[in-house]
Amino acid sequence: MLRGSRCALRRTGCPRSILRLLLARKNPRRVRLVRAEDRLDFPADVSSLIIPIRKVSEQTMKRSNLRLSFLIAAAVLCATTAQSLTLIRSHNMVPAPGNHARTATTFAQYDDPYSDFRNARYSNAGLLNERDEIKLGTQLHREVTKKYSLTDVGLDRVERIGQRCARASLRPNILYRFHVVQSREINGFSLPGGHVYVTTALLKLANDNELASVLAHEVGHVVARHSLKTLKQSQEYNDIAKSLGELTGVAGDVARDLGVTLGQMVGAGFLTLHTRDEEREADFLGVRTMPKAGFDPQAMVTMFQKLQRIEQENSSLLGSLFSDHPDAEERISNTRYEIARMKRR
Ligand SMILES: [Zn+2]
Repeated sequence: MLRGSRCALRRTGCPRSILRLLLARKNPRRVRLVRAEDRLDFPADVSSLIIPIRKVSEQTMKRSNLRLSFLIAAAVLCATTAQSLTLIRSHNMVPAPGNHARTATTFAQYDDPYSDFRNARYSNAGLLNERDEIKLGTQLHREVTKKYSLTDVGLDRVERIGQRCARASLRPNILYRFHVVQSREINGFSLPGGHVYVTTALLKLANDNELASVLAHEVGHVVARHSLKTLKQSQEYNDIAKSLGELTGVAGDVARDLGVTLGQMVGAGFLTLHTRDEEREADFLGVRTMPKAGFDPQAMVTMFQKLQRIEQENSSLLGSLFSDHPDAEERISNTRYEIARMKRR
């Protein structure tokens, strides 16, 4: 039913776990290293040292000398082991020849999945200005109401939690409007200008903190102007921008033509379809907003876990939104990383 509305709970497919797998497959050194580690208990060079010592001791040495020999052998063994471990450690850190750039990226991502977004600053520069963005949101919302069935059920709760997230976000100064869509599919999405939607099925599934995680994620898309960036790349951008500039609010040809174009965009889910990086960025903005809004960010983890479980038990409830994005694990691990990081600072 909500086909095309791809956001909130969309599962970003992403590099860390995949790259880790690729790294393991493509780096045969790791396999060799593990085997070398297995052999460390009794390396050949150390045994050859022990055997001559043992022969000498049988012939001439006294018992005290024998004890000394074993001490020496043990020392050699320890030194060799330490050296081998150092080698293993350095091999793990040194990328295979030719793989340097990619491996360096892998380690950077492993260290901080959100490194690309930490210093981001958000504005409408180079995009529709804020006034036109809000006009666009109003027009798009009109098309959403034609396509989906909105309800007041649970709206107070969504409004209360959503406004807290919006005020704590990096874009608190526009008027956010929260809506509930009647649907058995678990979903949420947002549009330019601050319109945020969640389904009745999602409201049943999520407790207040988990709902906050979804709403904060959706507000994150609005903060980062993701839909505006998508629109900018579309063929219709110039026509839409021009129409919005001319739009007076009075029904007329301009509004009618714009309505047709935007209706098609809503139908295709064009503006609610985000890239994996945009999903990751919305997760990042969302999890950081949660404590500022007075919610427990850990609920973003439990929300993903609930979705993961539903996907395994009855994926039809997640509709088309989840079937092709099998990476909840990555989002869970990224969210945990960020929570730990927030606790440290
Ligand atoms: Zn999203």
